[in-house]
Amino acid sequence: MNLCIMENCIKPVKAKKYCAMHHQRWRRHGDPNTIKVRKSDPPAVCQWVRCEKPTLCKGYCAKHYYIQRMMKS
Ligand SMILES: [Zn+2]
Ligand SMILES: [Zn+2]
Repeated sequence: MNLCIMENCIKPVKAKKYCAMHHQRWRRHGDPNTIKVRKSDPPAVCQWVRCEKPTLCKGYCAKHYYIQRMMKS
């Protein structure tokens, strides 16, 4: 099975060497790197104090999402 050609993307290819998500971006914007930003959305930066990494899940970067999950459980 082939994987999406985008860097850091490990999803399987759906079409044109991109996964479903990147293929959709490529079709909509002509560029798989473009993420449509809605004005109502909070800044996509980790909400951890002094962390400015891009969010991965629930407002945290990969590292801090993992940490806050460990702290909650
Ligand atoms: Zn992808
Ligand atoms: Zn973080």
